[in-house]
Order: sequence, then C-alpha cells, then structure tokens
Amino acid sequence: MAGPAARRQSVGVNVGGVMVGGGAPVVVQSMTNTDTADIDATVRQVMQLARAGSEIVRITVDRDESAAAVPIIRDRLASMGYDVPLVGDFHYIGHKLLTDHPACAEALAKYRINPGNVGFKAKRDTQFATLIEIANRYDKPVRIGVNWGSLDEELLTRLMDENAASDTPISAAAVQREAIIQSALLSAQRAEELGMGRDKILLSTKVSDVQHLIAVYQDLAARCDYALHLGLTEAGMGSKGIVASSAALGILLQQGIGDTIRISLTPEPGGDRTTEVKVAQELLQTMGFRQFLPVVAACPGCGRTTSTTFQTLAKDIQDHLNTSMPEWRERYPGVETLSVAVMGCIVNGPGESKHANIGISLPGTGETPAAPVFVDGQKVATLRGADVADQFKTMVADYIERKFGS
Ligand code: SF4
Repeated sequence: MAGPAARRQSVGVNVGGVMVGGGAPVVVQSMTNTDTADIDATVRQVMQLARAGSEIVRITVDRDESAAAVPIIRDRLASMGYDVPLVGDFHYIGHKLLTDHPACAEALAKYRINPGNVGFKAKRDTQFATLIEIANRYDKPVRIGVNWGSLDEELLTRLMDENAASDTPISAAAVQREAIIQSALLSAQRAEELGMGRDKILLSTKVSDVQHLIAVYQDLAARCDYALHLGLTEAGMGSKGIVASSAALGILLQQGIGDTIRISLTPEPGGDRTTEVKVAQELLQTMGFRQFLPVVAACPGCGRTTSTTFQTLAKDIQDHLNTSMPEWRERYPGVETLSVAVMGCIVNGPGESKHANIGISLPGTGETPAAPVFVDGQKVATLRGADVADQFKTMVADYIERKFGS
C-alpha cells in the first residue's frame, strides 16, 4: 500500500513537555480568541481547547494587562489539572512585555515572534535580540513565525530590487516567497548567533493561498532542519477554511513536511472554537498519522435506504463516541482504535461491516426487515424491530467493555 513519504528529519523542540519534531508524532495546537486580560474567559477557553485535544494552546499577549494575566492563567489551569503548554503570541512590543513581566516570561512554554513586526524598524535588531536573550534566560523555545500579511517590507523591497536588476528575473510571487523564507531563516540564524540552540527554534511561514503555502513550505523544508509549524493563515470560515487547510496541509504532511499543525478557522459568531482542534485531529487521523477518535464508517445513503434510521444511528454513534472519549481514554486504553460501520443496505453493508470492529447493515428497500451485525468480521446477530438502533448501541457498549476494559 502506498504511504506518505518518510518524515523530514527535524531537530526536536521540547515545548513545555510536548515534543515537536525530531520524529515525534505531529502535534495539534490551537489559539484562543479571548482577551487574555480576561482571565476567566481565557482559562475557560484553554480548558475547552485542551479537552478537545489541543496539545499546545497559544494566547495573545498584547499589553501589560494580558502579560500580567498569563502567570495567573497558567496557575489556575494547573490547579484544575490542566498542564497544556501555553505559548505567548507577541507582536510589536513583545521585547518590552517580556522584560517588564518576568513572571509571564517564566509561565509561558514558548514565545511566538513575528520578525516582520518586532518593534520599530530602526530598533528591530536590538529588540529581536532582547526577545532571544529573554528566551535563553528562561530556557524557552521560540517560534519564528513569518506571515505574509506582516512581512518585513525592507527585506521584500531589497529582494524585489535585486530581482528587477537580474538577467533572469523570477515572478513577483516567487520573490515574495523567497522574502518569507529568508525572513524566517535569517532570523533563526540571528537567534543562533545570540546563543539559542537549534533545539529551541521552530519556524513557520504562513500564507493564505494554498498553492503558495505548499511551495513556500517545500522550499523552506529543503533549506533547513528546524522543526516546522504548519498552518494556512486566514483560511476562512466553514467548509472553505476546512477544505483549504486540509488540502494544503494534507499535501505537505504526505510529503513528510510538518511537525505541528494549527487549522486557522474563522468561527461563526458565537461559534465553537474547538472546531479547529477537531479538524486538525481528523486530518491527521484520516491520513493515518495519528489516532485520536474511534472511526465511524457510514455510507451516504441513496434510493435504496428505506428510512433515515441509519443516518440517525450513524450520527448517534459518532456523537456518543466523541463525547465519551475524554472519560474513555483512561477507562478503556486503546479505545481510539475502535472502528464502527453503520450501513444503509445489503449492497455494501455486510462487506463494510466486516472490515470494522463492529458493524451493522440496516435493511434497504425490498430487503427483509432485519439488520445483521458483524463483530470482528463474523456475523454474530440479526437485529429486528423498532428499537434496532438501541440494540446496536448496547452491542457497541458491550464490545468496548469486552475489548478495551481492564
Ligand atoms: Fe445506497 Fe446501500 Fe450503498 Fe448505502 S450501502 S449508499 S444504502 S447502495
């Protein structure tokens, strides 16, 4: 069976106890959208994201009040048993905030630095050096996170001028990609000159266009061995953001590129922030890189389905498995490897059910009103009656207890 390319060799970085790169499984991370100075709201959202499976959570640190809140947030989370590493997202005044708030510098597990906006241009070098010196002092890793929306204009202008004077000019888009990559690599080089180890540096080069993102990361991956954080920036809302992120990140991951991912979705007003974590998990799981949740295989249904029972059952089973996972992870070790099939008729039902740990084939049009159930490839029962769905759910629960219970 064809599989993904070998993982790109990268230098592993320990982010508050979570290994990123160096052969570690691809890490899922996310970011809050609360005002970090609002301690209650931020603690609540970090907990939601961590419970959903975010292994690292980034929070905005944009002013004194948010910097002062960080250690309180970290301590409050720890007191409730949440030790998810917190990453501080700094722009413009990170050097000042980290200097003025040593407790914040100590509480964070990593600093995100945007080389395109480290302070005022004239003082950029010294302010970047301040950030790195503080990271060295507190033994913290950094992510040098370039974003084409806030690219170093000076660097871009210089590369554009050089390209214009070249005998073999490249496209403007290619120059822009080169500026993004150089911004990341030159900053990483400068951090190393300031005494930072390679095992303390992650890079990201985010753009919002799928093809550019793939090209920029392929190039970056070939030119260094720093651990890479993947993300399509400003991916957008709903299915557009999910499809664009999955297409871009899926291709890179298949090529062995990427050590941690964030899916940047714009939530619906009042929407659930944890969707980005679920999408990241599903992307990694569906590609076979990691296993987070049991899989429910269900057919799409067609004119052969006699009712919506199978759709309802498939949804019920998926919802039940998803909501039970936080509790089951401890109670039923390995339960995330479970596969369940819920099929609408005899055409593909028995075959698909046999491939799952436990599967049911509901009766289609013209079929005998009976639903065969397969367990580990063997037919074990034929369910009948109006409560077929409940009978099957009980069988799934019994199977989980038998297979994964201690
Ligand atoms: Fe239609 Fe049956 Fe195929 Fe489901 S398994 S899509 S009901 S033919």
